[in-house]
Amino acid sequence: MRPSLLNPMFASVRSLPGIGPRVCGLLVKVLNIDPAKGEPRLVDFLHLLPHSVIDRRNRTDVAHAAAGAIVILELTVDRHQPPPIADKRKVPYRVLAHDDTGNIMLVFFHAQHNWLLNQLPIGEKIIVSGRIEWFNGHASMVHPHHITSLAESKFLPLIEPVYPSTTGLSAKTLSKAMIQALDRIPVLEEWQDKVLLQREQFPAYGEALTAIHMPDTPLVIAAASSARRRLAYDELLANQLSLALVRLKTKRLAGRPLPLLGTYLETLRQTLAFQLTQGQEQVFSEISQDLAAPKRMLRLLQGDVGSGKTVVAILAMVQAAESGGQSALMVPTEVLARQHYATIAPLTEKIGLKTALLTGREKGRERSLILESLNSAKAHIIIGTHALIQEGIDFHNLAFIIIDEQHRFGVHQRLQLTAKGNMPDMLVMTATPIPRTLMLTAFGDMDISRLTQKPARQKPVKTAILSANRMTDLMQHIKHALARDEKLYWICPLVEESQSINLTATIKRFEILARQFGNLVGLVHGKMPARQKDAAIADFKQGKTRLLVATTVVEVGIDVPDASIIIIEHAERFGLAQLHQLRGRVGRGDRPSSCTLLYKEPLSSMAKARLNVIRNTEDGFHIAEEDLRLRGEGDLLGTKQSGIPGFRFADMDAHRDLLEIARQDARLILEQDRDLESPRGKALRLLLYLFRRDDATRLLRAG
Ligand code: ADP
Ligand code: MG
Repeated sequence: MRPSLLNPMFASVRSLPGIGPRVCGLLVKVLNIDPAKGEPRLVDFLHLLPHSVIDRRNRTDVAHAAAGAIVILELTVDRHQPPPIADKRKVPYRVLAHDDTGNIMLVFFHAQHNWLLNQLPIGEKIIVSGRIEWFNGHASMVHPHHITSLAESKFLPLIEPVYPSTTGLSAKTLSKAMIQALDRIPVLEEWQDKVLLQREQFPAYGEALTAIHMPDTPLVIAAASSARRRLAYDELLANQLSLALVRLKTKRLAGRPLPLLGTYLETLRQTLAFQLTQGQEQVFSEISQDLAAPKRMLRLLQGDVGSGKTVVAILAMVQAAESGGQSALMVPTEVLARQHYATIAPLTEKIGLKTALLTGREKGRERSLILESLNSAKAHIIIGTHALIQEGIDFHNLAFIIIDEQHRFGVHQRLQLTAKGNMPDMLVMTATPIPRTLMLTAFGDMDISRLTQKPARQKPVKTAILSANRMTDLMQHIKHALARDEKLYWICPLVEESQSINLTATIKRFEILARQFGNLVGLVHGKMPARQKDAAIADFKQGKTRLLVATTVVEVGIDVPDASIIIIEHAERFGLAQLHQLRGRVGRGDRPSSCTLLYKEPLSSMAKARLNVIRNTEDGFHIAEEDLRLRGEGDLLGTKQSGIPGFRFADMDAHRDLLEIARQDARLILEQDRDLESPRGKALRLLLYLFRRDDATRLLRAG
């Protein structure tokens, strides 16, 4: 139970002034909160880190305002100049104003006229702040950040934090609500070690939050400030403590041995269409030994796209079945679940083992039959999406869990699946190289197996970067490829923020290509009914269609070995890891393969550098490193960019030292006080709640 002392921190953000249902909806996005968790709480809001600040200590007059500077001006409004009705969309609304030193034009696009007349009454003195532009000797300011009457202006902060924003959410609303929220932070017992506090000059938790939301210097939001470091340390300690609690808990329960008996495995090996590579043999033997040992396995299998992780997973699951243990393979998408099922079920059938499939789609009687087969041990292997962790799904004897493409799942999802098992061993598989920082924050310490070579059959993929202006050439190229009987993917980007716009673009692209190449063209996107999706992919596999227009639903894991060409539209909009994954869809068969990265001009130098990384190497580790390096360079204040997914304050580069300390600290704390019952332990419980590690608090003995 959460201590009542924390209640104010867990009130809905809607209890703050200016935050109604609409703004609350927008905040869900900005705060990046799982909508299933309900409305954002005050603490989520307070943990929103400003990404930069506006420095308005620069109060000046028109004549002295430098181009590009953000300034505060005291002006008198002269005249409003609304756009002609006919051109309302294109021509801005202009307001002319002056001070003793000169004239300035305030410019508004798509403005609400009444609102402007209200804010900028003719003849009145006002204070505006914003960025100055000079053009041909005339000063202007486009969309001032703030407009206030002279009387109200004393409330304008000199240094104002700027939050990650979304359309429709005004900076003013956020700032006002934030000041209220700061006021409601209760007095909390210090949870950090006194010696550390002194050495690092950490302010108290509440003070640190106040410092970053009401900055008195722009430096306070930088990663090196003591307020930022304090909050980063809180966050990291909460993380390490919760992982250590999970580990402690699982260690208390021993694992059970699932030895290599060979009854099924020998047959399985003979059934496979290929021989395992040496690398696959090596990692399988590591996993096999872990399974056989009487303690719990927690192992990461890291192998680049196309390195052949699936078959290793199959062998391991069959080993578990030899001892009568059930295995679950959880994957992030339904398409991937079906694909795995299609490969695995026939193989296991040949050796007399039953594989079942469970996604969100199986309903009614079909679903009851599947659930029954899990419960009664008729099914030895179950493949599914997160549908596997729902309530009401019970296993007879779940002994082994595999999570594919682990970066798509959170800690709590892993825990939920573990809870359904009988001391299950766990293997997580990933194609994304994980830096040590991420490893530690996502898993704590775990064992690692690596697949470094790819099966010899796999060919290098020739990668080219091409301007979308050269579409005609590309069409010729496609025509020839289709004439040679090749299979091609055409990938359209799907950006989360605007699914509908993207969907239209995807369908349009499909129509254009279908006009050219007729019924050789197929379409698959995330918004399609699932059965249609399967059909589209099956048609492509069987060669009924040979040019598949797709959104990133094909990104993870799809395996159509004879597809040899992939064209990625708007490649500049994709992340490097994503491009690498997409490219990994080709080069899986015997044909020479290629990847074309289409971009729309103009291409920034940063975007060009990023695409060049993909063109120049196929090594996933190298790509991940370059990605980090490039992102670092694009980062001005060193605030958010090298952040750790799911973390708000901690920065991978700047706070590496703190992560190590937190790791040690968490271990020491639990050695002395494993149920957090000492006075400091009780305070640390507050920390766990504040950083939303409720999962971990449930592992503590009540009381
Ligand atoms: P990933 O590691 O990306 O999940 P997959 O397991 O999908 O890779 O394997 C990629 C492709 O390589 C598949 O078509 C698979 O059948 C094939 N493959 C895997 N191991 C071997 C091998 N030892 N020899 C030949 N082909 C293999
Ligand atoms: Mg895979």
